[in-house]
Amino acid sequence: MAGPLDRPDLAVVGAGPAGAAAALGALHAEPGLRVALLDRADFPRDKACGDGVAPHVLDRLAEVGVTGLLDDRVPVARLRLDRGGRGAERTMARPSYVVPRRVLDARLVEAAQEAGAVLRRHRVRDLTVDGGAGGGGVVLDGEIAAPVVVGADGARSVVRRRVGWAPGATALALRGYAPVTPAREGAQVIAFGTARQPSYAWSFDRGDGWANVGYGEVLGDGQAPGKGELIGHLEDLLPGTTRDATDWRGHHLPLSGLRWRPPSGRVLLVGDAAGLVNPMTGEGIYYAVTTGIAAGRAAARALAEGRPARAGHRYRRDARAHLLPHLRHTAAAGRLSRSAPMLDAGLAASARDQRVFDDLVELGLARGRISPAVVRGLVTSLARALLRPLPEER
Ligand SMILES: Cc1cc2nc3c(=O)[nH]c(=O)nc-3n(C[C@H](O)[C@H](O)[C@H](O)COP(=O)(O)OP(=O)(O)OC[C@H]3O[C@@H](n4cnc5c(N)ncnc54)[C@H](O)[C@@H]3O)c2cc1C
Repeated sequence: MAGPLDRPDLAVVGAGPAGAAAALGALHAEPGLRVALLDRADFPRDKACGDGVAPHVLDRLAEVGVTGLLDDRVPVARLRLDRGGRGAERTMARPSYVVPRRVLDARLVEAAQEAGAVLRRHRVRDLTVDGGAGGGGVVLDGEIAAPVVVGADGARSVVRRRVGWAPGATALALRGYAPVTPAREGAQVIAFGTARQPSYAWSFDRGDGWANVGYGEVLGDGQAPGKGELIGHLEDLLPGTTRDATDWRGHHLPLSGLRWRPPSGRVLLVGDAAGLVNPMTGEGIYYAVTTGIAAGRAAARALAEGRPARAGHRYRRDARAHLLPHLRHTAAAGRLSRSAPMLDAGLAASARDQRVFDDLVELGLARGRISPAVVRGLVTSLARALLRPLPEER
């Protein structure tokens, strides 16, 4: 017999930041909606991540009534960017947070439940879309039927595969937890690779004596690096970070590109399932929350109008209006940062000018663009590098 959870108005597959945000977006727009939040895991659960949470994530959550989520966490204001011993260390315009995903995601799920979503442990394996004249709908695993489904099931999304949507380039990253080294206390430290590009290692102080440490690189055509290799690169770039480290966990990051066009229809893709990780920084939580809220709102409005099949179209229009200009800029920046001289030029400009630093942080964490200050800074750095006398001329 079908239970209330088998016939929700909206089924959300995956209860990470994107899925929880989708439930929140929908219930904020239409508080009476029946929203089923499905996840293969029980919460709290861990997730491979650098745990860096941009303050912009909290801005978006406030729009759907979630406030004070990280009030008990220690904000991190310092950011150090380094490549081969040279770079910039500055205070960010707004501090970030470093929050283990076991904590962040459970709090978001709790907020979605408080808003009215019903969490159910269920691993989705199959999805069929019936666009029939009799109303149509989406059926998950032959047992859960909903007029609209949001696919928020992460980098290896089953929903994405079932609707035949292909993501772009992929990165691979590994994180662990280690006692924070004294030189890296109170800061988020990023050391860009010197041998391979784009790649970077990080140490993010959690504020409790431990740091989230890790290393990631964009995957090419060759064999993906193994765990030992990734840890080796981390230790090379940030010596001492791997000492006494535990809880190693790796995952893929589906990177965003120049053109982002999620599918329309009754199945909406959000967050990592929609291929939305910043190619410059590997940040994805901001996009996950932003697209989750947009999808939830679009679904709620389409359902209220009695036109659920329009939900995807509405979502695509709204989310692209919000994100596309930024995604184009960040794709361009991601490509530029594959060039070592360009990366060095950006770091040198950030060291000279707080404005360039702030604009690059905005581009890497949320919705920024390549600003005139960044362009001027890059040109100046490149010109200085060209005019610098060669060693034999000094
Ligand atoms: C090592 C690493 C470091 C990173 N560092 C950062 C960082 O510092 N800051 C940042 O902003 N981003 C970072 N990211 C990216 C960030 O982790 C993702 O962009 C973010 O988790 C996306 O959220 P999501 O909700 O789309 O997906 P996820 O967080 O992956 O959530 C997906 C959910 O779906 C569930 N699920 C999966 N398949 C199914 C299924 N078939 N049925 C039911 N449920 C399912 C999973 O259990 C999971 O709960 C990092 C990623 C990696 C790998």
